[in-house]
Amino acid sequence: MAPLSTITSDTNHTIENGNKEFSESMQHKRLRLFPMKKSDQWESPYDEVLHKDSKFMAPIRKWEKSIGFVTPILWTNVILLSTFHVITVLWFLHDAVTLQTPKWQTVLFGIIMGQLSGFGVTGGVHRYWCHRSYKAKWPLQVILLLCYSVAGQNTIYQWVRDHRVHHKFSETTADPHDANRGFFFSHVGWLMMKKHPDVLKAGRKIDMSDITSDPLVRFHTKYFYVFKICLCFLIPSLIPRLLWEETWKMSIYSQTFVRYMLSLNCTWAVNSFAHLWGNKPYDRHIMPVENKGVSIVAMGEGWHNYHHTFPWDYKAAELGVPHNTTTILLDFFSQIGWAYDLKTASPLLIKEVIKNRGDLNKH
Ligand SMILES: [Zn+2]
Ligand SMILES: [Zn+2]
Repeated sequence: MAPLSTITSDTNHTIENGNKEFSESMQHKRLRLFPMKKSDQWESPYDEVLHKDSKFMAPIRKWEKSIGFVTPILWTNVILLSTFHVITVLWFLHDAVTLQTPKWQTVLFGIIMGQLSGFGVTGGVHRYWCHRSYKAKWPLQVILLLCYSVAGQNTIYQWVRDHRVHHKFSETTADPHDANRGFFFSHVGWLMMKKHPDVLKAGRKIDMSDITSDPLVRFHTKYFYVFKICLCFLIPSLIPRLLWEETWKMSIYSQTFVRYMLSLNCTWAVNSFAHLWGNKPYDRHIMPVENKGVSIVAMGEGWHNYHHTFPWDYKAAELGVPHNTTTILLDFFSQIGWAYDLKTASPLLIKEVIKNRGDLNKH
């Protein structure tokens, strides 16, 4: 049987092919956003990750610590993310009440841009750069890179490092978005707090040499903000105005607010919904689940119990379709020869794994 490098056991935290000593140190260190019971024996890592701060922050830090936040709050991210979501929702309600609607071309363009950005995340930074589940010729690499820029997320290096850590130390304190800490933390809260020291330690141990030596990724990282600002916000917001005379307001709102907000939440849903609600036909010992809703909105990334069992499978699901738009696109690129050496689990291996670890009632 092929090595299952990321299988983790809910009770033993056995991490095959991982750093056993490190994984053992993760035992009994389950934390939520706040420590839930006073009786819990835990050492707060709060001060460990609190570095130079202005005097102005001192009372705020004292308050955070007194109510039991596990790590310091990143207030800039809290303000930016909250304001962005509040503006988008209020703007939507205002337009709904005043009956202001976008042109049909703007709606269609929004859907297309949403799909492109989604493909950059799912087929690009996730299945290609992070898991190397297939090989891509340079034209496809360029397409993935441009699509990923439309999504407006972190650098490829940051995304890949965090996700590799997530797979290797899933559902421990070293998991950047540990779902044991609740829905909000795994969805977006983890971006609003400093990383737990175990996450930082794990991140330093991850092999990132393939990413740091990739010339295309290096180029993208060098001009990261140029790519992000131009392809996520500037150009998409100009197109509706210039090509079909959409109003300025609606051009900016549809792309910079609505499309961006939806695309971020679809990506985050994989870390929250697909770790909390669904079934576990492939491995009943882990938290990731099969979630059809997430697969629909995240282009096939919701078959997450399978994905954590076979992270190297380019389909990120046992079946290519339905609800796996990314796989359909990768199969197309494979047909024209731009994607090749696509890795996938054999039916025999899947059957064997289900027999040993799966929840047979749910398959
Ligand atoms: Zn996951
Ligand atoms: Zn993954």
